[in-house]
Amino acid sequence: MALAPTQEDHPVHAQHWVNGSADSSAPHGVRPVIDPATGTTTGDFPVADSGVVDRAVRAAAAAAPGWWALGWEERARLLLEVADRIAAAASDLAVLESREMGKPVAMAREDIEGSVEVVRDAARAAGSFFATESAGGGLRRRPYGVAALITPWNYPVCQVTDFLGCLLAAGNTVVVKPSEKAPLAVAALGPLLEVLPPGVVSIVLGDGAAGAALVEHPLVGLVHFTGSVATGRKVGASAGARLVPCFLELGGKDALVVDRDVDVTAAAEMAAEGGWVNTGQVCTSVERVYVHTDVADAFLSELTRQAAHWRFGVGRDPESRMGPLVDADQRDHVHRQVSEARLAGAEVLIGGEPLPGPGFFYPPTVIVGAPDDSSLMTEETFGPVIAVRVVESFEDGVRLANTGAYGLTAAALTNDPGNVEIAAGLDAGAVTINGGGDGPEDAPFEPARDSGLGRVRFGPGALDSFTRPYVVSIGGSA
Ligand code: NAD
Repeated sequence: MALAPTQEDHPVHAQHWVNGSADSSAPHGVRPVIDPATGTTTGDFPVADSGVVDRAVRAAAAAAPGWWALGWEERARLLLEVADRIAAAASDLAVLESREMGKPVAMAREDIEGSVEVVRDAARAAGSFFATESAGGGLRRRPYGVAALITPWNYPVCQVTDFLGCLLAAGNTVVVKPSEKAPLAVAALGPLLEVLPPGVVSIVLGDGAAGAALVEHPLVGLVHFTGSVATGRKVGASAGARLVPCFLELGGKDALVVDRDVDVTAAAEMAAEGGWVNTGQVCTSVERVYVHTDVADAFLSELTRQAAHWRFGVGRDPESRMGPLVDADQRDHVHRQVSEARLAGAEVLIGGEPLPGPGFFYPPTVIVGAPDDSSLMTEETFGPVIAVRVVESFEDGVRLANTGAYGLTAAALTNDPGNVEIAAGLDAGAVTINGGGDGPEDAPFEPARDSGLGRVRFGPGALDSFTRPYVVSIGGSA
């Protein structure tokens, strides 16, 4: 399926998708979206106010009883149709993502195709999940009604579709508010959703004010938010004030702990892949490495060598493994952390300077010796910067990895069985040791500390999270 123009020379004029139709209301004007690789304009979008949000939520509330009454089989059939339509549009959506936030097109396409499978899994899981219900007494479930789905810009389409499928399969209707930094590909999903009854999904384009209006809307019964800790706190407070369930997927400062007995080339490859994919703009990026002093020199020289060969450039160039940062603000934020660490005595082994324009490129960077309390070691960087700290022992590495505000994921490399057990004590939502293996199926993921709130699940687990259980108990006679 071909979408509206995605070629480089065509500007994309996005629209909201409200109650089953495109809607160009722009009470707060129209805002441009800049291609971060070239600095040129990719397109624009209308900025919603609380009135547009209200229309979308009311449409979702009106559609909710009918969507639930359709039953899981019909909902699953429609969702599988939606999944097919998104899969057919994946290439166009990927080009658009690249043009609005910079990532390599092939990577964007792979992400979107993977997320289509999440939608299909959610649709298929509904059968076994709802099969446990029968007439009469016992455990029943009902959806929360209208779900608010608020998303960031780093995986524009996937952050929507991963959760949209699960929320819909569970019987909720959804109002989506994508990031104002990359709303175009998400807006392009609107027409692909037209097989759903009107109002079941609306997409409202806008900034934080539109997001806040959505969370505060009295007809919203569940909030799912992915974004920064600072915004997550506001969203959580607002949902808490209304006593509606709220899932928060927030930032990370993920650590990799490297023991003295590992293959340093493989360890450096793992750090590079973890630190530079998507230009480090991943919540689970490797931002800190704690490396044992015995292998520190070898590890650092291999990581620096890999940085020198890491191809980066415009996302439409198939040779690019990494694109630019999303915008000038993000580049300034990354460079501020690097500069402060350098002033405090850290050594930049490679990278560490923004590249001249056009675009907002920052090279793969390796920096060693930043103080433990520097912003580079304690705050989320969200850029292609790997900060290495040399430690005297593996235990020290694990101890330091467990410090700080974030606990999204953590990883360790060791061949010492005793240290494997120490690594299992890393305090994060998911711990990967030696590259990981088969974990429990459908395992819940609950971020530690400030990295989030609530359990992230897909498939049947998500249906459990996104429906409210209640018990019907029936006596003999009345
Ligand atoms: P952000 O918090 O700035 O914005 C996220 C979304 O919230 C946007 O749609 C924004 O418009 C909206 N928003 C802003 N203010 C709001 C308010 N007061 N009420 C409601 N909505 C509001 O985050 P970002 O810069 O778009 O994304 C980057 C962040 O997302 C990073 O911290 C990253 O780690 C995190 N992230 C986390 C995960 C995860 O699964 N844990 C995944 C991807 C990204």
